[in-house]
Amino acid sequence: MLLNQSESTNNAIGFKGNKSTTLTEFFHIFGATVDRWRYQEDQNEFSCGNSMPKSDFPMVGMIKHAASVYTLTLFRDFEKEFKYAMGCISTIHHMEDNFIGYKVQHESWPDHTAKHVAFDPSTNSIACYCRNFEESGWLCFHAIRVLHVHSIINIPE
Ligand SMILES: [Zn+2]
Repeated sequence: MLLNQSESTNNAIGFKGNKSTTLTEFFHIFGATVDRWRYQEDQNEFSCGNSMPKSDFPMVGMIKHAASVYTLTLFRDFEKEFKYAMGCISTIHHMEDNFIGYKVQHESWPDHTAKHVAFDPSTNSIACYCRNFEESGWLCFHAIRVLHVHSIINIPE
């Protein structure tokens, strides 16, 4: 029996939908399927002894550094923050010796409060007022944005 296009796509992603499945339901299932594929791909890659994970971003700068210092799971989380950072608008609101004050806000989240980020170009040190980095050691996308603007390629300690 010949399958039509949607039936064969459904089979490929293990999708048990029918004509009454809504688009939202479809995207939910499809998203979960892509995550599963990605996870499987990562596992295969790692079992092949390849220590550098694949990324949709070019393997340069902070992404490359993250890939070399983080576990695979942490690297995937870092990629997500990096993606948010690329969607941000950053504006300088204060500047003096060894201090540049930025306001960073995601372009698609107008209700989201802009965060203040302080950058010291003499030491490349960074602080964000969401205090993620100080409290959890996890670099937030606000800070990543500013580091990226300054072409910093190493994630701070
Ligand atoms: Zn932050």
